[in-house]
Amino acid sequence: MATSGLELSAELKTRLAAIGDRIPPHVRLIAVTKTFPVSIIRAAYAEGIRDFGENKVQESLAKQLELRDLTDVTWHFIGHIQSNKSRKVLEHFDWIHSIDSLKLAARLDRQAGELNRRPNCCLQVKLLPDPNKDGFDPSELLAVLPDLDQLTQIQIRGLMVILPYGLNPQQAKSGFLQARDLASQIDAKGMINVKMDTLSMGMSGDFESAIAAGSTMVRIGSGLFGQR
Ligand SMILES: *Cc1c(COP(=O)(O)O)cnc(C)c1O
Repeated sequence: MATSGLELSAELKTRLAAIGDRIPPHVRLIAVTKTFPVSIIRAAYAEGIRDFGENKVQESLAKQLELRDLTDVTWHFIGHIQSNKSRKVLEHFDWIHSIDSLKLAARLDRQAGELNRRPNCCLQVKLLPDPNKDGFDPSELLAVLPDLDQLTQIQIRGLMVILPYGLNPQQAKSGFLQARDLASQIDAKGMINVKMDTLSMGMSGDFESAIAAGSTMVRIGSGLFGQR
């Protein structure tokens, strides 16, 4: 059954007001619209949202094409990047949150040069070892920092963190604090090209503890748009 535009925006208004109240002004809200149709993105845009997160290249490009009249939107890529998709990601996204290997970073840097793009990027970190999750282990990340610092075309701005499911609020808080400490540790090295002014952490279920731990960008989907 189709929801009318009116109902859609009334519900979104309510949810956005409730979430917006819990996000301080220095924290940027990324509305995660993966799996949701363009009608939802338009409704969110009408409420003033300008940052949208997507995790699949094909799906997002189809939506971006339909939404090309919205010229002041910032698109954020938050999903795993297969190497044959990296060029498309560079062409169509301003922020790339999900750099999960040195190899990918180097590839993006080279292609960004060819395409004359300077994307803002985050390094995705996995705080606990997990073979099924993408991301740098903290020790691995510290080891490749000198190599990352050689990359001058992409703009490395900070870290992106996704915590494992099912943590209690205390565990989540401690995970986010660990991420912040890692960012401080990296920042203290005074790298030239690796900046640490951004912490992309916090989703619908845990954004308040992420903000308490120093998040600067929260990525919220279901809390705004309902279950996928
Ligand atoms: C889907 C997704 C989100 C949003 O998750 P919600 O729980 O719906 O808020 C945030 N970040 C990433 C990387 C995602 O894939």
